[in-house]
Amino acid sequence: MPQRHDVIVIGSGITGLSAARQSLRNGLATATMEAQFVGGLVVNINHLDGDIPGSGTDLAMDWMAEIGDLGANNISATAVSIRREQHDLIVESDAGSHRTAAVIVASGAQIRRLGIPGEAELEDQGVSRCADCNGPLYQNHDVVVVGGGDSALQEALVLSRFARQVALVHRGTRFRAQRHLIDQIGNHPNISVQLRTQVEAVLGVQAVAAVRVKNLDDETRREIACTGFFAYVGLEPACEFVPDTVGRDPLGFLLTDAGMQTAMPGVFAAGAVRSGYGGLLSHAVAEGTAAANAVKALQPS
Ligand code: NAP
Repeated sequence: MPQRHDVIVIGSGITGLSAARQSLRNGLATATMEAQFVGGLVVNINHLDGDIPGSGTDLAMDWMAEIGDLGANNISATAVSIRREQHDLIVESDAGSHRTAAVIVASGAQIRRLGIPGEAELEDQGVSRCADCNGPLYQNHDVVVVGGGDSALQEALVLSRFARQVALVHRGTRFRAQRHLIDQIGNHPNISVQLRTQVEAVLGVQAVAAVRVKNLDDETRREIACTGFFAYVGLEPACEFVPDTVGRDPLGFLLTDAGMQTAMPGVFAAGAVRSGYGGLLSHAVAEGTAAANAVKALQPS
């Protein structure tokens, strides 16, 4: 078995990168484990809001370079399981077994699908999850965005820079997004808000042509013509590899105590995979840092 680490951070989104950075600053032998691209969901954002300048990709690349300079061992692999073997934890991955004293699960969450007819069939043929990447494809087209949270409103605003008309369809009577996003959506010249409306199907042959919606008050149905469809209806955690002994909330997010410790000793969880995560970039950074400091506190002095 290769080198034993003090901590393996699973996931290299912003939470994982901040956890790895803090672990390295704390003097711990630290590995990151990531099979896909570094940065996680933040790389979908061209302009970060809050105090951090630049794009999500800029931020992720800067931090990746920094943890490389600090001596991180980057394991390119998918975690499969975590188990205890005497005093150590073993992270099994599709690239082998990795021995460590502690694990920080920072594997994040992915955008949930609506699961309606046409959504999977027309994936990448008008059904998209990335407004920043695919927005320019919809120059002067009509698009539909679904949801009432920060993601839906933020991405509707991104798409409004390209599309002729953005129909923002929400099942509720009010948005749960941040006030500044709601204010920008109100009276926007090319965003039309459709409340109490549920999308039932994405329609089209080989490309999106329309969506069928139902008015939840009077149960009438109609079609909205569009060539792009973006559903932002929440996130689902990426934590299949975490043992069942680690509790989950009803939506499947990992339960921890206030110190990010799960029910499995030595296994911590932080960021979007964790139940109670606040959702902002600043929360991701704070949780990753807190988990790293909690691991440090476990180490014999
Ligand atoms: P979210 O806050 O969970 O909102 C999901 C939205 O989708 C809700 O409005 C919900 O409606 C709706 N929805 C859920 N299931 C649905 C269904 N089956 N059919 C129709 N609508 C459905 O998810 P999110 O907006 O992706 O945000 C996730 C987290 O990331 C949040 O913590 C958020 O604050 C954070 N975030 C932050 C930023 C930022 O800081 N700029 C940007 C993006 C995301 P109801 O309201 O009726 O339940």
